[in-house]
Amino acid sequence: MNEMPQRQYVLEPAAVPTLAVAGGEALFPIHRIYCVGRNFADHAIEMGHDPDKEPPFFFQKNPDTIVPMGQDFPYPSASNDVHHEIELVVALSKGGTDIPLENALDCVYGYAVGLDMTRRDLQGEAKKAGRPWETGKAFEASAPCGPLHPVSAIGHPTQGAVWLKVNGETRQAGDLNQMIWKVPEMISYLSRLFELKAGDLIFAGTPAGVGAVTRGDEMVGHIAGVDDIRFRVS
Ligand code: MN
Repeated sequence: MNEMPQRQYVLEPAAVPTLAVAGGEALFPIHRIYCVGRNFADHAIEMGHDPDKEPPFFFQKNPDTIVPMGQDFPYPSASNDVHHEIELVVALSKGGTDIPLENALDCVYGYAVGLDMTRRDLQGEAKKAGRPWETGKAFEASAPCGPLHPVSAIGHPTQGAVWLKVNGETRQAGDLNQMIWKVPEMISYLSRLFELKAGDLIFAGTPAGVGAVTRGDEMVGHIAGVDDIRFRVS
């Protein structure tokens, strides 16, 4: 027998990033993390933009930036202005390219409540200089996220309260029905720019009221019909 030798990695491959699935031991393996910008009109306005004129735009976080519930959000290096952005997180069980609007929801495995943590000072400098956003958005532990709730358990939430409290004080408050680009539209639009795959997460944008956190703060978030999350800043 002339068997080909099994090829070996020269390094131990990094672990596959995962999210827990609520109500069991199963894990959802994360492929990519897409985030949509300015998807709530009131947040677009607070960031100085006209919400009516812009098509959706996207950036990515690295899959290993997810922080699961039960762990703290470690305050990052190199910033003095780290902001919370509470967001609906959409998890895909299948993908594709050029996904028609009417088939988009068939790709959704489930939903979670996540935080698009942002080094606002570095993002601001990048915007001003016309540079990419990675240092502002894709830093270590920048995506705290609760467990996934399958569509089979919660359906497809399209309305209901979204809020974030810091140390008991309400900072962000809105409603899922204020999303400019709805979940099927985001999936369909993204699939014309990227090949979506099973394991992709989409952070769906944040309502107004983003603001800074400091070490020791406790962030508690809620999306009606999805979940509640709690992360301490350490
Ligand atoms: Mn965001």
